[in-house]
Amino acid sequence: MELVSVSPEVQEILEKALDGKRITPEEALVLMHANADDLIAIGLVANKLRERNVGDFVTYVVNRNINFTNICIGSCGFCAFKRRLGDAEAFFLKLEEIVAKAHEALEVGATEVCIQGGLHPDIDVEFYTEIIKRIKEIGAVHVHAFSPMEIKYASERSGISIHETLELLKNAGLDSIPGTAAEILDDDVRRKICPTKLTTKEWIETIKEAHNLGIPTTATMLYGHIETAEDQVKHLSILRDIQDETGGFTEFIPLSFVHFNAPIYLSGESRGGATGVEDLRIIAVSRIFLDNFRNIQASWVKFGEKFSQVLLNFGANDLGGTLMEENISRAAGVASRMLTKEEIERMILEAGRVPRQRDTLYNWLH
Ligand code: SF4
Repeated sequence: MELVSVSPEVQEILEKALDGKRITPEEALVLMHANADDLIAIGLVANKLRERNVGDFVTYVVNRNINFTNICIGSCGFCAFKRRLGDAEAFFLKLEEIVAKAHEALEVGATEVCIQGGLHPDIDVEFYTEIIKRIKEIGAVHVHAFSPMEIKYASERSGISIHETLELLKNAGLDSIPGTAAEILDDDVRRKICPTKLTTKEWIETIKEAHNLGIPTTATMLYGHIETAEDQVKHLSILRDIQDETGGFTEFIPLSFVHFNAPIYLSGESRGGATGVEDLRIIAVSRIFLDNFRNIQASWVKFGEKFSQVLLNFGANDLGGTLMEENISRAAGVASRMLTKEEIERMILEAGRVPRQRDTLYNWLH
């Protein structure tokens, strides 16, 4: 009895991947267009590759997000978080408040603080370095902070190069950088969804510069808005090429577009987020195509607790952070909360896997 039916073209690609051979972007595109029947076979292969790569362990990090301001001069159409100066809901935390939040996180066992914020008109590189220095003074915590867009903004505001900016941040104690602001690495798409953000070339250069300075980063992709499968594969190819060159990515984090309050959705320009089938496909194809990434994250905040468990059987091996605070997805319309270690471990155990708390760089802590 044949349990899973699969088309010959998809079968050939999957056998190639199972043989340990790298699949091409064209082959990844075939998988991205695969129908729901083929998707089960793609998921089985992704799951097998995950098992070979990282075994049955599923990791998570105990962390806190600190979004220090929602005031932003940017104009990203997918962003429901930003506010203008003077808006009723605008906020800009004082340095003491940021440090106090980091302190609270440390007290409940967080190993990481993830700090990102809007492009506030009054800040420069000194502001960013000061945050890092003050947090480092309170104890041993990994500072995972500032997207490539914030780094570019800091460099422009202070009239220095990206290289100098990164050096200043590193010397202040920056440990790693979120690979956000990547959205879709295609300038035609970027012109439509984030016209004032850094270009594809600038994102790549900033990330490589960080890796060359010994600052690891994550890699992300925001999908489910206006992009095509071709754009998704192009994006993944860029990430795979960078990883071949630098080895500086710690993980790939697919970010499924949360559309509810996003301007491009409300204006009818984007689709209403990815469907469950698309989420499954992105996780599975990422695992197969990104053969030089050990870690593929199914962020429970984005996918929800229940669906994240399913994604663990489609190639993912990490659930992200327990997240004491998550303002950006919440602003976009996700009902998010914090998970305790016990809750996240229960999710993992029920999915038939072995939980491991990790630090930001994927060293196991227990
Ligand atoms: S995504 Fe970031 S840069 Fe873009 S508008 Fe929102 S806060 Fe500003």
